[in-house]
Amino acid sequence: MADICGEGICPYCGVGCRLQFDGQVPGPVRIRGVAQAAANLGGMCAKGAQLGPTIATSDRLTTPQFRLSRSDAFRSLSWDDAIVYVREIFRNIINTYGPDAVAFYGSGQLDTEAVYLVGKLFKGRLWCNNTDSNSRLCMAAAVAGYRTSLGSDGPPTCYDDIDHADAIVIMGSNMAEAHPVTFDRVRAAKKARPHLKIIVIDPRRTATAQHADLHLAVAPGGDVALLNALGRMLIDRGAIDAGFIAAHTSGIEQFRDFLHAEDLDELCDVAGLSTDQVAATADILAKSKGFLSFYCMGLNQSTVGMWKNNCLINLHLLLGQIGKVGAGPFSLTGQPNAMGGREGGLLSHQLPGYRFVDNADHRAEVEKFWKARPGAISPKPGLTAVEMFRSLERGQLKAIWIAGTNPAVSMPDLHQVRRALAKAQLVVVQDAYFPTETGQLADVLLPAAQFGEKDWTSTNSERMVSFSPKLWDARGDALPDWEILARFARSMGFSGFDFKDSSEVWDEFIQLTRGRPCDMAGITSRRLREKTELQWPCPTVDHPGAKRRYLDGKFATPDGRAIFQCREHKEPREVPDHEFPFVLTTGRLYSHWHTLTRTAKAEKLVKREPSPFVEIHPLDAAELDIEHGDLVQVSSRRGTIQLPAHLKESVSRGMVFVPFHWGDLYGPGNATNYLTIAAIGRVAKQPELKFCAVYLEKVPTPRKQGQALPMVDEASPV
Ligand code: SF4
Repeated sequence: MADICGEGICPYCGVGCRLQFDGQVPGPVRIRGVAQAAANLGGMCAKGAQLGPTIATSDRLTTPQFRLSRSDAFRSLSWDDAIVYVREIFRNIINTYGPDAVAFYGSGQLDTEAVYLVGKLFKGRLWCNNTDSNSRLCMAAAVAGYRTSLGSDGPPTCYDDIDHADAIVIMGSNMAEAHPVTFDRVRAAKKARPHLKIIVIDPRRTATAQHADLHLAVAPGGDVALLNALGRMLIDRGAIDAGFIAAHTSGIEQFRDFLHAEDLDELCDVAGLSTDQVAATADILAKSKGFLSFYCMGLNQSTVGMWKNNCLINLHLLLGQIGKVGAGPFSLTGQPNAMGGREGGLLSHQLPGYRFVDNADHRAEVEKFWKARPGAISPKPGLTAVEMFRSLERGQLKAIWIAGTNPAVSMPDLHQVRRALAKAQLVVVQDAYFPTETGQLADVLLPAAQFGEKDWTSTNSERMVSFSPKLWDARGDALPDWEILARFARSMGFSGFDFKDSSEVWDEFIQLTRGRPCDMAGITSRRLREKTELQWPCPTVDHPGAKRRYLDGKFATPDGRAIFQCREHKEPREVPDHEFPFVLTTGRLYSHWHTLTRTAKAEKLVKREPSPFVEIHPLDAAELDIEHGDLVQVSSRRGTIQLPAHLKESVSRGMVFVPFHWGDLYGPGNATNYLTIAAIGRVAKQPELKFCAVYLEKVPTPRKQGQALPMVDEASPV
C-alpha cells in the first residue's frame, strides 16, 4: 500500500479537469478539483470524484497474455516473449501481404507521447498509414470542418470566453451530462449575467436544454437546413459584419447567392421549426456582441458532419464573431487527449504537427526529422476506423493492434465488427483492464499503465497542454503505452526509439510542431513540469501560451482568409420508412463514460444509472401499446436488442433515444451499436452514429403458469 498525494488530469472527458489525489493505493483515495486549474477552477463531476474505486480493481490487466486459439484460455508470458510473439506475426504478415495488411486503432485515452510513437513506428518505419483512433467516431467532422473553413484544425476559443459571451449556442451537445464542469461554468455565467442568452439546439429536451432561454428541437438531421436558414435571415436583415467579411473572409458572394437560391420556408420546414422560432434565434445572434458556440457529437456523428461544422462556422464569419474575446466556434472533445491525437497525427491521413500524408512537403519534413529515407512515408491516407473493420472482414487487413479503446462496444454495426475481428489473423489489445468486450476477442493482451501510474501529457478541448506526473506504481507488469510501442519498435530493429523516459519522447515530438498552427515548441517537458499547463500556440520557451487564436484576423488558409462554405441539406443515409418507422439516436449519460470500462466499477455511479433503456415519446408508446417499464424490442436492418421503455416527452415523436454505454459484458448481444449504421461521410469518414431507422415492438409478457390460453375465435386465421 502506497501513500499518494499529487495532481493529475482526469482520464475521462475532454474538459481536462485537474484533480488532486490524496490517500492510498490500493485504498481510499480522496479526490478534489484543483482551484488554480484553468479548465475546472476547482470543479469536478461525479465521474472524476469516483475515480478512486477504478484504480486497483481485481480486473486490472497485470501481465502480458496470449492464446493460440480464440477458444483457448489466455496464458501469461513475459514482456520480452510477448513483444517477440507479436513482432514475428507482424513481420510474417508484412512480408507476405505488405505493410497495408497491419493496422493500429487507438483512442483519445492515449497520451501524446504514445500517439507520437504510433505515428513514428507505423508511418515512419513500417510504411503503413493504417493508424486511426476512436476520435474518428467523435471528432473527425470537427477536424475537417475547422480545416476547410479556417485552414487549420484546433478551436480558436477558450473556456474563459464563456465569461465574456452574451449569446451561447449549444448545438448537438448534451453538455450538462457529457461535459458537466464546462456546463457548470455556463450556468454560473448565466447567474452572474442574466442577460446572457443560452440557446440549445437538440432534437431532445436534454438536461442541457432545460437550462436554455431558447430550446430549438431541431428535426434529427435538420441541422444544415437550420443553420442555412439562420444565415439567410442574418443576411436578409443586414445584420452581418460587412467590414470583417471584406477584410478577413472569402466566398461571401457565392455564399449569399447560394442562400438566396434556397427557399427559407422549406429550410425551416426541413429543420422541423417554425420561421418564428428561427427568427427569434437570428434576433439573439444579430444583437449579440459575443457569440460563442459549443458543439459535439450531435453535429459530428453524421455523414454530413463536416458540412454541419462548416455551416455553424459560416454564422460566426457572417457576424464577425471569431478571433475575439467571448466569441467563436468551440468544438468540445470527448476524450482527455482527443486533441493530442490530432496534434500527434494519429488519424490515418495525418502526420505530427497538423501535417498530412497526402502533402509531399509535409512527408519530406517528417521523413527528414525521423531520419527515414526519402519516400518512406506513404502518400496514401490509411484506413479509417470503419474502413479498418470492413477491410478485416474482407480479409485484406490481417492484423490489428487496438489500444485504450473498446470497439466491440463503441463502433457502429457491432455484428460486422465481431465478424471482422473473428476473421483477423492477429488481434492485439493493449488496455489497463481485462475483460473488456474487445479483449475477449483478442489473441494477445498487453497490460497498460493508466492515469496516475505514469508521466503523461494531454491536450484538452481548449488547447491546454497539461502534464500529469506518476503518482503511484503501475499494477503488476503494466507499462506506459509509449514504452510498449518503443520496446516493440526496437525489437523490430528500428532506430529512433531509445527514449530514456516520456519527457524525451515529448521533447522530440514538439520539435515537429515548430512553425505549425499547433506550435508547441515552447512547451518543453521541463517547462511543463514546472508550470504543468500551457495553451498552444506557444512557439518559444518564454512565450506565455495563447488563450485565443486568429486575434489578428489572419486565418490559417494560404491567403489568410476564412472561407464561407456553401453546404446544402442532405438526408441522413438511412431514413425511416414503413418497415423501420422510427429514428434511433444514441448518446451518453451523466454517470457513465464510453463503454463502462471504468465507471461500472464505481458503485455510486452505477447506482445512479444502473442499466440501459429506450426513451420513447408517450404518444408513440401509446400507439404501440407500450407502457413505462415494458420490455421493448428495438430492431434495425442490422440487429435487434431488447430494453425497458422509459416514456419521456423529452424525445420528439418518431424518435427514440438509447444510451450506448452498455456492451456484451452486461447483456450479450444487447448493445446499442448492434443497431447503428456504419455509413461514413466522404471527407471526415465519421460514422452516422446519431441516426438510423428502427422498428419497435413490445415484447409480450411471458404467460404465468396455469394462466388459461385466450379463446381462439373459430373465424380466426390462427
Ligand atoms: Fe472533469 Fe470531465 Fe473528469 Fe468530469 S469527467 S471531472 S468534467 S474531466
